[in-house]
Amino acid sequence: MKTDQPADHLADATRIVNAGRRSEWTGPVVNPPVWRASTHLYPDTAALFAGGRENADGRFFYGRRGAPTQWALADALTALEPGAAGTVLYPSGVAAIAGVMLTVLKPGDVVLISDNAYDPSRAMGKGLLADFGIEPRFFDPLDFAGYQAAFCDRTRAVLLEAPGSLSMEMADLPALARMAREKGAIAIMDNTWAGPLGFPALQRGMDVSIMALTKHVGGHSDLMMGSASAGPALYERLRQRSQQLGNVVSPDDAALALRGLRTLHLRLRHEADSALTIAQWLASREEVAQVLCPMLPGAPGHDIWKRDFTGGCGLFSFVFKGGSASARNRFVDALRLFGIGFSWGGFESLALPIEPSGYRSRMPWPPAVCSADDRHGVRLAIGLEDPADLIADIEQALAAWRE
Ligand SMILES: *Cc1c(COP(=O)(O)O)cnc(C)c1O
Repeated sequence: MKTDQPADHLADATRIVNAGRRSEWTGPVVNPPVWRASTHLYPDTAALFAGGRENADGRFFYGRRGAPTQWALADALTALEPGAAGTVLYPSGVAAIAGVMLTVLKPGDVVLISDNAYDPSRAMGKGLLADFGIEPRFFDPLDFAGYQAAFCDRTRAVLLEAPGSLSMEMADLPALARMAREKGAIAIMDNTWAGPLGFPALQRGMDVSIMALTKHVGGHSDLMMGSASAGPALYERLRQRSQQLGNVVSPDDAALALRGLRTLHLRLRHEADSALTIAQWLASREEVAQVLCPMLPGAPGHDIWKRDFTGGCGLFSFVFKGGSASARNRFVDALRLFGIGFSWGGFESLALPIEPSGYRSRMPWPPAVCSADDRHGVRLAIGLEDPADLIADIEQALAAWRE
């Protein structure tokens, strides 16, 4: 790329290669160097006083406001999110969610939280936010009338996430966001699963799009970071609150995230294709009661996913037909190519036993599409391995489940 800003008409793959690579930040090399800096020096006092305290984003000022490595990452993420005026970086995905909540909410407000949101988001509602006098109310995102009824004149924000954490329900996100707007509430979306390539959240009606960069943008299981992208007014508020909270992101991690970002579209496509192949295979197995993967034709939420999303990723769940928790755990232990661990979005496959009922107050587990005996689930994060090898591994582990 020879010009400084990727043009809007270019395809995602082209933009992702070029985004954030302003020559004033990269100099004569391809990537911005790792600028390790607390102190930024001024040539003289005139420059110091001209520094401008109001908006030093993208200008040298002091280390808490970052330097070109962090600016390039934020700039690239903004370029990938249609409708965003800017992106704030946070030291983790949870810090991004907290940073957004503490920007848009104040004591006395009510926040509606999707019942199937990432559990630390739920815990933040019941802990941090409740301690600060903000009332969290959980709602079933599949029950539109219940959602509408949950609003009151103190509702200031709604936290949405789809597919749902662990159980992978696909909500009608544009309709939920539209209702939030009508009620004067800010629609916050945790968009970690699809990211802007699969779900351009602001374009679909959200006010803020949050990502745990720890997952797919980092992509190599070696960094923690989060982001929030928004339109001009809200972005400016997020930026100021983030500075007040003292959030910083290390330039080394920002450089790693930029490296991950350049291959994001390739990795997502490969993972999503492999996940679909594996989900299809699992759906044909007699040991499996239900595959919970909105990308899979016939699975719950597929129609909405197809309508609203342009992509997905390698993360989905399935539920065993009957059996016991220990049989399910035997299956996970017998897998050889899948690590056992939280997180996802890295290059390597992971498996996790799931029991969502402990993290729900409004939605049933097992889901309505399963019978009461079909409740022992596994979440798979499909990585970049050959899907045939992963299927063979799952097949041999199913023998351990049947024992
Ligand atoms: C992992 C995750 C987060 C939190 O990200 P961290 O970087 O681990 O704090 C938030 N939301 C979703 C959907 C996640 O999967």
